[in-house]
Amino acid sequence: MTSMPGIDALRAQLSGRVIDESNTDYDSARAVWNGEINRKPAVIARCTGPADVVAAIAFGLEQAMAISVRGGGHGYWGAAVPDGGLVIDLSELRGVSVDPGSRRAWCGGGATIADLDVATQRHGLAVTGGTISHTGIGGLTLGGGFGWLVHKAGLTIDNLLAAEVVTADGRILGVSADEYADLFWALRGGGGNFGVVTGFEFRLHEVGPLVYLGVFFWGLDQGTEVLHLGREVATALPRDAGLLLVAGLTAPAAPYVPARYRGTPGFGLLLAGFGSAQEHAALIAPIRDALPPMFEFVTPLPYVELQKILDESAPWGSHAYEKSLCLRELNDESIAALTDLVPRKSSPMSFIQIFPLGGAFAAVKDQDTAFGCSRAARYVVNMVAVAPNADLLATDRGWARSVWQVLVPHSSGTGGYLNFLADDDSDRVHAAYGPAKYQQLARIKARYDPDNVFQTNANIKPAMLGKP
Ligand SMILES: Cc1cc2nc3c(=O)[nH]c(=O)nc-3n(C[C@H](O)[C@H](O)[C@H](O)COP(=O)(O)OP(=O)(O)OC[C@H]3O[C@@H](n4cnc5c(N)ncnc54)[C@H](O)[C@@H]3O)c2cc1C
Repeated sequence: MTSMPGIDALRAQLSGRVIDESNTDYDSARAVWNGEINRKPAVIARCTGPADVVAAIAFGLEQAMAISVRGGGHGYWGAAVPDGGLVIDLSELRGVSVDPGSRRAWCGGGATIADLDVATQRHGLAVTGGTISHTGIGGLTLGGGFGWLVHKAGLTIDNLLAAEVVTADGRILGVSADEYADLFWALRGGGGNFGVVTGFEFRLHEVGPLVYLGVFFWGLDQGTEVLHLGREVATALPRDAGLLLVAGLTAPAAPYVPARYRGTPGFGLLLAGFGSAQEHAALIAPIRDALPPMFEFVTPLPYVELQKILDESAPWGSHAYEKSLCLRELNDESIAALTDLVPRKSSPMSFIQIFPLGGAFAAVKDQDTAFGCSRAARYVVNMVAVAPNADLLATDRGWARSVWQVLVPHSSGTGGYLNFLADDDSDRVHAAYGPAKYQQLARIKARYDPDNVFQTNANIKPAMLGKP
């Protein structure tokens, strides 16, 4: 096999490995979380620090290749692995250091949520991460980032204090509110458009280590009542709690699920508590009283375990597609549509996730970050088609699209949460930011990446190149 010109020089220059088709681990190196993606990049550069990233970008530009960035590999449409292109793979840049005194953590741009959780929880601290612990902090943060702590601590970006960024022209910048403030603003929601983030610094919050979880499960026939109840709980949710509503959840074969209910589709309400056991008990008692569930599971658990509790629902290699929307309210019409459409899914793994937003999330002003959904949104609704194989996914892809279509009139726009984008869809990127934010991002893009080197992402076109 003839190797690509310059690849030996790149190998000699990088401290990390450079992988191409000639390497036996090429297939595992190009794999991403979504089993639907089967792309063949020409070169995968496993960068171990900013100097490697500078060299890799220079190589990609020299070879006129598409350049992508891979953090945790969980982007739905596989933007991290362009066919025939160069992957700047940060999966080995996963170190985390924590300063408990100043309550700050620094992590590499390829760290996973689990990496960050484990290190910060040694000190009883945490920052908002997503609900599946193997997701990458890189993509999650740059698009916003919400999870169990969103009410308590806001989005992940609301806790970003600084970042180390390698720009398209090979500069290594320390970015914060005081240095390159425009870039700092754009990184907080503008995705991977502005450079390769080799390190993130986060503000941490006191969390756990022991927290509380209540899981309540009802049958498909009780969907309307569950979602009405969920709306009430969400509206009154204190900051020290996190809530997730799941429509179409299949009761897992977990020890806490009575054998007769395992595999049954239904509606779930999961309520996490970060205060005392008494506070959590007081939050869940009215749920049980209002609508006795088919089964429930209430337990104290370490925060790191809470962060992993849904991992089995989203294993690596799942075939997945999704559509999302941000809603200002969960109105009766949306509830009626959801309860009607949920049973029409085909894959037991598919579900609709309704994530309430409020508390610390709502305390941040829209213009303070580049986050795509409005801070007036109170729910992110995520139609998740997941299947063990491509055929079953094909059916539920249509289902996810149809539910989304029905909910659009009740939403604040068609953009949704950009981290849940599963198509390379520039209309939805425009719609998510709205014209003013998009134009501001496009101007910043023109300053830091005028040639749109970083374009395999939810792309923002540089203002000077095209119509913003
Ligand atoms: C199973 C699953 C569960 C999820 N749960 C949640 C959730 O609870 N909350 C939530 O907010 N989101 C959630 N997401 C969405 C997730 O935030 C996005 O998919 C995100 O892009 C994943 O980041 P990654 O680094 O793993 O992905 P990658 O595919 O590696 O990266 C995606 C894109 O992000 C950019 N990028 C990543 N890292 C860097 C970096 N260091 N520097 C520059 N650009 C970078 C690149 O443009 C890249 O194409 C979930 C996704 C999945 C698949």
